[in-house]
Amino acid sequence: MWLDSTAGKSPPVTFRQALLEPMAPDGGLYVPASWPAVSPADLAAWRGASVADLAVEILGRWVGDEFGVDVLARLMRAALTFPVPVRCLGGRYVVAELFHGPTLAFKDFGAQTLARLLHHVVADRGERAAVLVATSGDTGGAVAQAFYGLPGIEVVVLYPAGRISRFQEAQIAGLDGNVTAVRVPGTFDDCQRLVKTAFGDRALGGVRLSSANSINIGRLLPQCVYYVSAYVAAVERPGDPVVFAVPSGNLGNLTAGVIAQRLGLPVRRFVAALNVNRVLADYLASGRFEPRRSIQTMSSAMDVGDPSNFARLLALHGRSLDQMRRNLWSVSIDEETTRRTIRDAYRSYGYLFDPHSAVGFAAAQAYEATSSGDEPIVVLATAHPAKFNETIAEILDVRVPLPESHRHWHERPVSAVALADTRYETFRDLLLARLAQ
Ligand SMILES: *Cc1c(COP(=O)(O)O)cnc(C)c1O
Repeated sequence: MWLDSTAGKSPPVTFRQALLEPMAPDGGLYVPASWPAVSPADLAAWRGASVADLAVEILGRWVGDEFGVDVLARLMRAALTFPVPVRCLGGRYVVAELFHGPTLAFKDFGAQTLARLLHHVVADRGERAAVLVATSGDTGGAVAQAFYGLPGIEVVVLYPAGRISRFQEAQIAGLDGNVTAVRVPGTFDDCQRLVKTAFGDRALGGVRLSSANSINIGRLLPQCVYYVSAYVAAVERPGDPVVFAVPSGNLGNLTAGVIAQRLGLPVRRFVAALNVNRVLADYLASGRFEPRRSIQTMSSAMDVGDPSNFARLLALHGRSLDQMRRNLWSVSIDEETTRRTIRDAYRSYGYLFDPHSAVGFAAAQAYEATSSGDEPIVVLATAHPAKFNETIAEILDVRVPLPESHRHWHERPVSAVALADTRYETFRDLLLARLAQ
């Protein structure tokens, strides 16, 4: 499989190369240069297939020759062990639950598949790699869980002290072995700056540094799979159109949807659901892309002021604002509307949305009010409500239990390395010591 840079000034690379070097030399991000077709007959045949089997079918058409279909099947079966249940709420609304993975958030799909693919490629080359991640909560846990126990890969997760939940911290700092959790006495921005500086630090030498954020196409491409899985479960006849409502921040999820559509998935339109961080909605209205500082909300994983996958979205729509406006409908949902949506959905449908998914449902309702179609609107639920019990308790008098399989996280002792200050030199010493082991 060949991939092109969105900046158009560096040569195409293979999928394996893009896994190892996720950022193109010209500063662009990689997008597929070829598009295998998915037909209505495929979709009919895939009804009831597991997510892992779908991943083998779909990714196999792109990278089957680069990995071998047997290897790909082994990697995907190890990575994707959880289902995507679909629930009909009533009317046009269908919810696809993407939160049944190890950390109860949709980031598990990308993190789990990236970990297996990257580990395979690094081991094949007889190399070692270090994966650095800065996290405001969800990404770090998903990445730590995904790479945990994979030999030859050291994972270093930086998180801001005191600013993530107990559950999130346990999932990052409750492991040992190849995962090092680093508590940074600062903000998420400090964590991100330390990681970026390390990537530019040639003196680190020897070890390959890899990134596990959503600029890596190895995390993004497999996300197409849950769109197909939700689609075949939601439609009556394969080939019928649907609308997807996508809670969005860095726009990785939405980009994966547009990629699935380009393969042939019959998506009439995407509803890009934003919290008050509304850069994409403003762009679609004004034609001007104006990144800004992020604003803190209840749906914190969507608090992104400069979404990095925007470059990919633009490239996938032929750099045409008109084409983008036809395909993407976006709305910004404020905090009060999010609270009301959680309350109303629980009362009307008996369904409890977490704050991120509630933004998605509120946006779906806003779209429905303006649209004359009758196709199903599939709302992607991106996190389990039990991860947000404190927030939900302020809105409704209900408490959802964590699934049985996840309760032990609350008892895990956390052991993180506390960074003394936020200077790069301090982090560098720690990193060198860790990588030397
Ligand atoms: C990361 C995240 C999002 C936003 O996804 P993007 O791909 O960054 O747009 C939405 N909901 C949850 C729960 C997340 O963790």
